[in-house]
Order: sequence, then structure tokens, then C-alpha cells
Amino acid sequence: MRDSVFVYSPSYQTYQFHQDHPFNQQRVLLTYDLLQAADAFDDGDIVTPRTATKEELALVHTEDYIQAVELAGAGRLPAAEGESYGLGTEDTPVFAGMHEAASLLVGGTLTAADYVMTGQARHACNLGGGLHHGFRGRASGFCIYNDSAVAIQYIQKNYGAKVLYIDTDAHHGDGVQFTFYDRSDVCTVSFHETGRYLFPGTGQVLEKGSGQGYGYSFNIPLDAFTEDDSFLHAYKTAASEIAAFFKPDVILTQNGADAHYYDPLTHLSNT
Ligand SMILES: [Zn+2]
Repeated sequence: MRDSVFVYSPSYQTYQFHQDHPFNQQRVLLTYDLLQAADAFDDGDIVTPRTATKEELALVHTEDYIQAVELAGAGRLPAAEGESYGLGTEDTPVFAGMHEAASLLVGGTLTAADYVMTGQARHACNLGGGLHHGFRGRASGFCIYNDSAVAIQYIQKNYGAKVLYIDTDAHHGDGVQFTFYDRSDVCTVSFHETGRYLFPGTGQVLEKGSGQGYGYSFNIPLDAFTEDDSFLHAYKTAASEIAAFFKPDVILTQNGADAHYYDPLTHLSNT
């Protein structure tokens, strides 16, 4: 078994809202180039993502939303209708081919899931993924389809495995949390800058799940200017205690790097 695989395609660059948009897939290309330059890859470490099918997207997303994304990407969705799906906003503008581009990012995370679940690799990384603000029927915060949520459903359906989701992005992992909010067979944990001033505003300690899912959503909001030692202390303590409690078969993580102190949109101070 390989220790790790890196899911990557130059086609990830097709997920581009517009030139000046802050969510820029150049970061994936730059990371790939840096890892190449550092000689971090062995032969066979880089794997090509597949595109998620509509049936796979529908494991989380509603049929009407998927259709709206397709129409928007083809320039055939009226603006007013788009807005009811969170499409065509300042954060998540419409762009040509958005359905195909977003399906590829989801497919990358499914490719990563397959590598781990079939025992071909111990770890798999898809830096094109992490679109944790996508909701069942609505785009939000740069995210169209929620690759993590789809992958969690996919892993359950195809491999019958129990998934623990851990999110260290500076923003609350709202789309994933609320997809599984009433379920006890998926556990979500999010470490993020407090929502008092930062998008999306949710992720408070008391958001613990509902109904059967009560006690299976964990939130660790951190104050602005939280630095490495405090962040790591919170992470190690909570992640190990929650893993011991939930006993997952597999862990899916979203590790958005915007908790870095240079990030222009957030206020954490990690290095
Ligand atoms: Zn973020």
C-alpha cells in the first residue's frame, strides 16, 4: 500500500469565477509546482481525478439545484432564479461550464476516497476540494457542490464505513455540518475563527446536532489572533477525544489554509 497519493489535474483551473475573484485555483497549481520542485513525489503518487456523476452529486444535492447549476453554466438560467440558489451572487458568480468544473472537484475527492477505501493508499489528498459551504440546494461562499459531503455519503453507501469529518479551515464548515446535522452515523468537527465577525457566522459551541444527531456535531470556535500553540492544543485535544468517542473507520479532513496569518479574509495567526 502506498503511503499517500496526490489527486491533481491541470483542469482544476477551470473552476474560476473571474480573474479578480479571491478563490483562485492558482494556489493548487503553485502547491503542485512546489512539491514537484521539492522532489516530494514518487512515480505513481500523482493520480488523475474523475468527474463526479449527477447521481453522485445527488447523494447530497437536490435535482433542481443540480439542474440550475447546469443551466447557469450554459448561460440559460434567469438571474432571479439563480439568486434563489445562491448563484450569481458576489461570492459565487455564474461562469461558463460551472457544473462541469465543480463536478471535477467533487470527482477528485471521490477519487481520493476510493484510493483509501480500497486500500491502495493510506492517505489521499485533493487540494482542489474543500468546498464546505455548499448546501443541498444552494451555493454559498465560493462553493457550488460540496465535495466533502458527497464523499461522506459515497463512502457510506459504497463501503459501509463510518466517517469522521474534521475541518480546520478558518471558516466554519457549515455545509457539511448541516448536511449531517440530524444523523448519528456521521460525526462532524469544525475548528474555525469565531463567527462573531466572520462568514458564515455559524459554528457556535452549542450547535451540537439535532434529533438523532444530537451530540455528533462539534464546534471549536477560536478567537481572532489565535496562534499556533493554542490552535494545536485545541486541535490535538478535541480531535483525539472525539475520535476516541466516535471510533470512525475513516477520517475525511478539510484543511483550508486560510487560518494562516497572511490570509487577507480572516484573522487567525497561524504560521
Ligand atoms: Zn475558508
